[in-house]
Amino acid sequence: MEAAVQLDGVFFSYRGTPILKGASFTLAPGELCALVGPNGAGKSTVIRLILGELAPDRGTVEVLGRAPSAASPDGVVGYVPQQAPDDYRHFPASVEEVVGAMLSAAPVMKGWRGDRKGAVPRALRAAGIEDLARRPIGELSGGQFQRALLARALVSSPKLLLLDEPTSNLDDESADALVRLVSKLTRESGASVLLVTHDRARMPDLPDRVVCLHDGLVEERLSGQAGEWHDV
Ligand code: ADP
Repeated sequence: MEAAVQLDGVFFSYRGTPILKGASFTLAPGELCALVGPNGAGKSTVIRLILGELAPDRGTVEVLGRAPSAASPDGVVGYVPQQAPDDYRHFPASVEEVVGAMLSAAPVMKGWRGDRKGAVPRALRAAGIEDLARRPIGELSGGQFQRALLARALVSSPKLLLLDEPTSNLDDESADALVRLVSKLTRESGASVLLVTHDRARMPDLPDRVVCLHDGLVEERLSGQAGEWHDV
């Protein structure tokens, strides 16, 4: 089976400032991998390359064996953006509308072959927020909001799930619960997950693998070894 994500010798600069300097990385099918590194290391840039929003200056990026722009639109890639509940404070839509809107996005509609009617309730159930379906999205707590974003990413049954700092607005307990939920869901579905965080001390020891973005390169870390995990 092809890799979920494959970066090979990727270079990327923003207006002459190099961010990635030959980064290589493979996310295996069904793997839950944490990508750690300090703020500004380029983690969101890696996500945007995987989503096809950016193109490498040199090197290649493949998603499920395809060019990222070809893989992303039809629902095979789920994305939980770095977003604060306040961004949605005055957004006039319910949780189920926000989750369902994902399936109305034209490219997803075109390529997606899933059960449209059952998809929203199933995603809400998976994220543990079915009782919040009709609640205005702006009224959710930080933890509930993060689960709503997760449900939105899960609604098309993606094969690859990308999460950008999903725990940054949460207290320790909610952060732990969210990562546990992601781990459980992905074990059940067989999806591959790349979870980005700068806050590795708060990450439960659940990822199969931890890689670190350091000086423009992706370096392997052993998730089972606390020393390595904390002393990057
Ligand atoms: P991280 O997600 O690890 O915090 P980012 O990928 O967001 O890092 O950013 C890496 C570096 O690139 C940072 O120094 C950031 O300021 C810079 N950067 C990010 N986006 C842009 C942009 N659109 N234009 C110019 N510089 C950018």
